[in-house]
Amino acid sequence: MAERPLTLMAVHAHPDDEATSTGGILARYAAEGVTTVLVTCTDGRCGDGLGGTKPGEPGHDPGTVVTMRQAELTASCAALKVTHLETLGYADSGMMGWPANDAPGAFWTTPVAAAADRLAELIRRYRPDVVVTYDENGFYGHPDHIQAHRITMAAVEQTGIPAKVYWTTVPRSAFRQFGQVMKEIGVEFPEPDGQPELGLPDDEITTWVDVGAYGGQKFESLAAHASQAENIFFLQLGEERFTELMGVETFVRVRDTTGAPVPEDDLFAGLR
Ligand SMILES: [Zn+2]
Repeated sequence: MAERPLTLMAVHAHPDDEATSTGGILARYAAEGVTTVLVTCTDGRCGDGLGGTKPGEPGHDPGTVVTMRQAELTASCAALKVTHLETLGYADSGMMGWPANDAPGAFWTTPVAAAADRLAELIRRYRPDVVVTYDENGFYGHPDHIQAHRITMAAVEQTGIPAKVYWTTVPRSAFRQFGQVMKEIGVEFPEPDGQPELGLPDDEITTWVDVGAYGGQKFESLAAHASQAENIFFLQLGEERFTELMGVETFVRVRDTTGAPVPEDDLFAGLR
């Protein structure tokens, strides 16, 4: 029914965020002929440096980290066959309360309207039918994830273009299963430390997308970001177990002009 290919836009905070929560959908929809656009808002300078060094430690050079992570992002996009990569280039703000929150060019302290204008320009250029980002807590409270949520919702409002908007989430049942498997293979799984519980009860999730056939590409995308400790943690699962555990990606639909009933198993339900 559409004259142009369907288009998916995923808006993420850092180089590597595209891999875990949306690697499967990016790979699957590209394989189905959908145009995929990844927008990465920050340069990832507060990530791990060479040899696992943390920001502020000797040997952690932000400029080097930015270059390394940009190359990793390019490799990840190749693995997922992302059609267009757009980087907004804001400085990674670090975790909540870090001095980097207020550093010049930090994403967190950039006015929402200014960054949303830039994203709105990309939305007008690519005209995505579906946009995916995080919930208002940025899934786990990272300032750059919260800011990515805010600018995305503002840009969607401003342009009115996407027919459907989704927030990434993880079913609570999957967390339990994940913890179990980690214990079985002897990998220490960090216990929740008084944080609000992550993810959603299964019955609040509107959209379950089977990406099992794309586990290899998703694993390859994550492996492209092997400089970051939290990714090494996932890579320890090995490709087969990783695919088994991460074979379904889940979302909450927060905007819809199609009337497609929920629960649904396709981000483009109602648009094909
Ligand atoms: Zn991130």
